[in-house]
Amino acid sequence: MSARSTAGNGRPADSRPAAPDDLIQPFKIEGQAVRGRLVRLGPLIDAVLDRHQYPLVVAELLGEMVALAAGLAGALKYDGVFTLQTKGDGPIHLMVADITSDGDVRGYAQYDAEKLAAVTGVAGRAALSVPKLLGAGYLAFTVDQGSHTERYQGIVELTGATLAECVHHYFRQSEQLDSVVKVAAGRAAGGWRAGALMLQRLPPAAGAADEVEDGWRRALALMASSTEQELLDERLAPNDLLYRLFHEDGVRVFAQSSLRPGCRCSRERVERVLRSLPTDELESFKVDGLITVTCEFCSARYEFSDSQIAGLKDSDDA
Ligand SMILES: [Zn+2]
Repeated sequence: MSARSTAGNGRPADSRPAAPDDLIQPFKIEGQAVRGRLVRLGPLIDAVLDRHQYPLVVAELLGEMVALAAGLAGALKYDGVFTLQTKGDGPIHLMVADITSDGDVRGYAQYDAEKLAAVTGVAGRAALSVPKLLGAGYLAFTVDQGSHTERYQGIVELTGATLAECVHHYFRQSEQLDSVVKVAAGRAAGGWRAGALMLQRLPPAAGAADEVEDGWRRALALMASSTEQELLDERLAPNDLLYRLFHEDGVRVFAQSSLRPGCRCSRERVERVLRSLPTDELESFKVDGLITVTCEFCSARYEFSDSQIAGLKDSDDA
């Protein structure tokens, strides 16, 4: 059998074993004041996108959002939830991706099918930029560490043709001038995949300024040379990709953090929301005597019968 023969599942056979997946791999370039993180998402992003049946461009952009959220969260020390969100007046009016410090990841998008069809109908896929798909709006970064601490939020206007450019605009606005990110998402034979590569320049410990600058510029050029294909290749191990890119200086990898799809919705949370609503509003939600609440993130459905709704209000009065 040749290497190009087709396996029983109809996909081309590939003798390379599947690489570790759904993780954040932190690394440092040897001898340089440069650190980074590589995000690889396979089964996780496939699970997040697959349950929604989004149009292709929506799924691709949300895939990028989730990979970016993982890359950005990986740079933070926090105990709680990191959220990346876009809101705009374009066809995709909302995208949310969040990641807990334990590695639970989720995301969803809201879009207007008619507006989206109007845009995707006339433009080639390459022309589907952030201004066309998301419109004018903002990108928000939120770190929520529970009710006992203050919530951090950074907001910038959506500025740039791609989500990565919008994040770069945020870096400029928040004076994180020495951070860059590259991101990709796409559907391969085995399902959806997404990847992100981030580099950050550290304050130099010592050494001539010229050398430090050269090291940073070289790292940026090497990062730019990585392809979308490499970021998404399920058989290219994260460490092999890092070595391929940065082997000249050498690259040191640190402990990976693993990620998994996870939602924090629960019947109790939905009950709490319903309980907080006025009775006439609850009545307006009823269809055939039932209120059905669907989680936007994971599509879990919570149903409440007439008597259960009445019960909510009773326990509220008690
Ligand atoms: Zn949920």
